[in-house]
Amino acid sequence: MRSTKTSAHLFDLALPTIPDGVSSPMRAFRQVGGNPICAASGNGATLTDVDGNVYTDFLNAFGAQLLGHAHPAVVEAIRQQAARGTVLGLTSPLEHRLAQRIVESTPAIEQIRFVCSGTEAVMTATRIARAHTGRNLLVKFVGSYHGHSDVLLASPTTSGIKTKGVTQGIPENLNREVLLCQYNDQAQLSNLFAEHGDAIAAVIVEPYATNMGFVRPQPGFMAEIRRLCDQFGSLFIFDEVVTGFRFTFGGICNLMDIDPDLVTFGKIIGGGAPIGAYAGKARFMQHVAIGNTVFQSGTFAANPLTMAAANAALDVMAQAGFYEELERKGQLLESSLNKAFNAHNIPFLFTRYGALGGVAFRDSQRAMKSYKDVKTQHYEIYTKVHQLMLDKGFLMAPSLEEPIFLGAAHSDDDLRSFASALGEAASEALAAHRQAFPVLLPF
Ligand SMILES: *Cc1c(COP(=O)(O)O)cnc(C)c1O
Repeated sequence: MRSTKTSAHLFDLALPTIPDGVSSPMRAFRQVGGNPICAASGNGATLTDVDGNVYTDFLNAFGAQLLGHAHPAVVEAIRQQAARGTVLGLTSPLEHRLAQRIVESTPAIEQIRFVCSGTEAVMTATRIARAHTGRNLLVKFVGSYHGHSDVLLASPTTSGIKTKGVTQGIPENLNREVLLCQYNDQAQLSNLFAEHGDAIAAVIVEPYATNMGFVRPQPGFMAEIRRLCDQFGSLFIFDEVVTGFRFTFGGICNLMDIDPDLVTFGKIIGGGAPIGAYAGKARFMQHVAIGNTVFQSGTFAANPLTMAAANAALDVMAQAGFYEELERKGQLLESSLNKAFNAHNIPFLFTRYGALGGVAFRDSQRAMKSYKDVKTQHYEIYTKVHQLMLDKGFLMAPSLEEPIFLGAAHSDDDLRSFASALGEAASEALAAHRQAFPVLLPF
């Protein structure tokens, strides 16, 4: 039986100095219950905790570690750069190289700037949109997450819509500058534009909703956002912090035939080091050039340590066949999981794109379309599944509203054994649930 004694002990010691013992809330496992674990190390597809338990990792640092932990090429790049200075307070060739590679990878963008987190990237992109349009309103989708800046956590307090990341401390006037729309709801979006179009600075959207578990855009939805933004002179911001470089070498906009005005990156592109980037057409990006109205800076922005790690990671991702191999792994997980779910008569639907997917914990073969659907899931089943999977040696995201993150380091065996373990765990959790609630509500 797995012991988490050392983790528990370390959490106890940390609680007086760190609220909840963590610096980012999901790590406290409040959404899944059970004892949170403290990490000791990561290597490839595995993560080892302080008690010596080894997990095959399907959290992958919330998707940041596409190459797996401690990829040798990235480690070597960081080691060499560390000896030459970690932050130099000036620009560097490493920064220029990374900028050029990312701009070349994605036809929708012409210029790019680096910051240290996705939060900063999105915050600045929205600032540019507001400056460019001279308007204040932002349209966001219910259940999305775009980082923790005031502007992206603001939501209309009067809407009564249950959204995520609700927080106090946001000035009331900021809350009034946001309009909420259900993901995939074209009619609601057109109504919002019909009523407020002249005041909308930007629509910000995740091209695939990865902060609601995993929800795909319906055909035509992104094109409709583009059309409305064009009609009303609003900017279209693609938040690719999760999707960028996950499915192809560049933004997912390359694959979707969508031409956003601004694109934000983060997570993967740092090769495991802290990063964010905002990019787009020069006429928008030029606002941050000196004297051109919008301010953004950062002591650690484009620091050489991150730039070295990022360039090394991009070298690996640029290799021929890299994304084809990820797609093959995604397919293998899908077929293995469907087999396991069938064998145990589990009614849950697994949806996937490339090496990213999610299980909808509800009795329906209809894919989820919006946060309303997401909230129809049986969260308590996932709680049990999460704990059972840890016992079986698999780390999943400590929230049902995160996807299953595959990476280049997962072997075929990892994927097959994960699928069969998830089949067993879901079956056991479902049986326990059915005892308490004989009818699993179908949707
Ligand atoms: C994680 C995330 C962010 C925020 O990035 P941080 O680096 O955590 O600040 C922004 N947008 C999306 C879609 C994300 O998933």
